[in-house]
Amino acid sequence: MKIKTKLNLGVGLLFLLIILLSFVSAKYINELKADSENILVANYNSLEYCRNMLVSLDEDSEDAIQKFEINLKNQEKNITEIGEKETTLKIRMNFEQKRLNKLDSLNKAKIRKDIFRLMDMNMLAIQQKSEIANSTADKAVFWIAITGTICLLIALILLVNLPSNIADPVKKLTESIKQIAAKNYSERVHFESNSEFGELAKSFNTMAEKLEEYNNSNLAKLMMEKRRIETLINNMQDPVIGLDENLKIIFANEEAIKISGLSNHELIGKFSQEIALKNDLIRSLTQDLMIGEKENEQKQKTIKIFSENKESYFEKETLDISITPTGEANSKLVGHVIFLRNVTSYKELDFAKTNFIATVSHEFKTPISSIKMSLQLLENEQIGSLNYEQKNLIESIKDDANRLLKITGELLNITQLESGNIQLSILPSDPKEILFYAINSTKTQAEQKQITFEINLPKNISKIQADNEKTAWVLTNLISNAIRYSYENSIIYLKILQTENHVQISVSDTGQGIAPQYKDKIFDRYFRVPGTKKEGTGLGLAISKEFIEAQGGQIMVESEFGTGSTFTLIFNKFR
Ligand code: ADP
Repeated sequence: MKIKTKLNLGVGLLFLLIILLSFVSAKYINELKADSENILVANYNSLEYCRNMLVSLDEDSEDAIQKFEINLKNQEKNITEIGEKETTLKIRMNFEQKRLNKLDSLNKAKIRKDIFRLMDMNMLAIQQKSEIANSTADKAVFWIAITGTICLLIALILLVNLPSNIADPVKKLTESIKQIAAKNYSERVHFESNSEFGELAKSFNTMAEKLEEYNNSNLAKLMMEKRRIETLINNMQDPVIGLDENLKIIFANEEAIKISGLSNHELIGKFSQEIALKNDLIRSLTQDLMIGEKENEQKQKTIKIFSENKESYFEKETLDISITPTGEANSKLVGHVIFLRNVTSYKELDFAKTNFIATVSHEFKTPISSIKMSLQLLENEQIGSLNYEQKNLIESIKDDANRLLKITGELLNITQLESGNIQLSILPSDPKEILFYAINSTKTQAEQKQITFEINLPKNISKIQADNEKTAWVLTNLISNAIRYSYENSIIYLKILQTENHVQISVSDTGQGIAPQYKDKIFDRYFRVPGTKKEGTGLGLAISKEFIEAQGGQIMVESEFGTGSTFTLIFNKFR
C-alpha cells in the first residue's frame, strides 16, 4: 500500500471516529436533557401546584380561594400521568362544592386527600423517569467509551506504525547510500514493492547496478593499465622499487630483484624495515626514508653494489609520491619510488680519467722540478752572466714552471681525493704557524702586485685539530686567490679569531668580489666564475673544501660583489 494511502486512511479513519464520538455524545446529552426537562415540566410543576393548593386550602380568605383556583387551573393544563386527569377532576368537583358550602369540612378533607394522591402520582412518575435518565446516562457512557477506545486504539496503531513505516526505509536507504559511497556497489535495497519506497528502492538498485557495471568495466581497464605499467617498469634497464607510505615494498622490477639478491616473494609485500635487518642493500636504500631525512629528498647518491660477481655503481634517486584525494584540498603522501641509475660505465671512465690525470701529473712533476732547478743554475752568476733579455726570459719561464707545478699539484690532490687515497694526519697544530707559513709562500706573489698584508692576531691562540700540511696548502691557496683577484697596491687582511670552542682564520681582500649567484658554486670542482681572466683550474677551492671538511672543519665565504671577499676557515680547538 502506498504511504500516501496509508496516511489518508489512518488520519481519515481517525477523523471519522472523532465525528462519530461527537455525534454519539451529542445524541445522549440531548436525550438526557429531554429526560430531565420531562421531569421538570410534567411532574415537578404538578408537585408545585399541589403544594400551593394545599397552602391555600387551609385559609378561607377570598385571596386563598383565588390562588387555589389559579393553581388548579394550571394543574388541569398539566396532566401527564395515568389517573391524574380523574383525580384532578375530583378535586375540581369538590372545590366547586366547597365554594358553595364553605363550611363543609368533609369536602375539604376529600380535596386534601386527592391533592396528596396527585402528589404521590407525580412523585412516582419522577422516580420512574429518573431511572430512565440513569439508564440513558449509562448507555451514553458505554457508547462514548466504546467509540473513544476505538479512537485511542487507531491513534495508537498510527503512532506506533506510521513513523517506523516512513523512518525505517529512510534509515535503510541512508545505510545503503553509505555503502555505495564506500564503493560497495553490490549493495541493494528491498522495500514493499507497491509503496513509494518500493519505487525508490527500484531506482536505487538500478543506480547501484549501473555503478557496479561501470566499476567492473573500469576495473578491467585499470588492471590492463596496471599490467602495462608493470611490464614497462620490469623492462627498464635500471632497478626501480616502489614503497607505500608505511615503507612496505609494493613493487620491484626484475633488475631491482636481481641486485637485491632476494626472491620476488621475499621482497614484494614485505616491510622494508623488516628486510633491512638482513639485507644491506635495502637498508642503505631505505635508511633515509626510515629516519625521515627530508634534506636528502630528490638528492642523488652513488651506491656501490656487488652483484653477479662484479662491482656496479648506481645513482640513487628517491621520489616522494603525493596525491590529492578527490574532494579534498590537501595532498597526502602515498608512497616513495626509488630509482637506481646504473652509472658503472661512467664510473669506470671516471676511474680511468682519474688514473690518467694522476699518472700524467705525477710524470710532469719531475721534469718541472728539473726545469726549475736548471733555471736556478742559469741564474747563478758563477756559471755565466746573463744579459737583460735573457734574465727576463728566465723570469717568465720560472713563472710558467711555477704555474705548471701549481696545476700539477692541484691535479694530483684532486685525483687523491677522487680515488679516496687522501691521508690525513690530524694533530694539535698552531694556527699562527700555519698562517705564517702560507704568508711566506705567497710573499713574492704579493710583492709583484705591491699588495701588503695586514695581520690581526689575538694573544694566546689555542692549538687546533688539523693536518698541518693540508691546512697550510688551503691557506696558501686562499691567500694566493686573494692576491690574484685583488687590485694592485691593495691590502689583504689576515685575521685569527677565537671563540669558546673554535678558532677561525680569515682571509679578506678588497678585490672584485663574487656575484651572489656564484657563491655556492665556487666550491664545485672545475668551476670558475664566468669571465674570470686569471689563469686557473677551478680546483683550488674544491680541494680546500674537501681538505678542511675531512679534518672536521668548515670553510665559508662572504662576499659583496665589487667590494671584496672574505674566506674563513673554522677549526675545532684542541682540548
Ligand atoms: P681558480 O684556479 O680558478 O682560482 P679556485 O677554485 O681557487 O679556482 O676558485 C674558483 C673561482 O672562484 C675562481 O675562478 C674565481 O672566479 C673565484 N674566486 C676565488 N677566490 C676569489 C676571490 N678572492 N675573489 C674573487 N673571486 C674569487
